[in-house]
Amino acid sequence: MGVMPCGRQGCDEILCHKLIMGQQYICDGCFDELNEDRKLWPSSMMGVEVRERIETFMQTSPGATKLLDEEGIDAEFKRLTGSARWDKDEDEDEDE
Ligand SMILES: [Zn+2]
Repeated sequence: MGVMPCGRQGCDEILCHKLIMGQQYICDGCFDELNEDRKLWPSSMMGVEVRERIETFMQTSPGATKLLDEEGIDAEFKRLTGSARWDKDEDEDEDE
């Protein structure tokens, strides 16, 4: 059996069984997440939009499409910006 790495950006899974769009593998975890994401899609879409949604999803990192609570948003903001400026208790009047 060969190694079939997950085609999603940033995913380290290498034992995938599911082929999507006829060209890349997706692991169970990412596929579950894709299905969760799908629940938020519009109820009316063109076929090409479905493909675009899936392609866009595959360019996100695992966990990126999960809905975040306030704490999660804060953590993600800090991770992306390397900044804790969103914290209310620190000095916030420091301009660039
Ligand atoms: Zn994956």
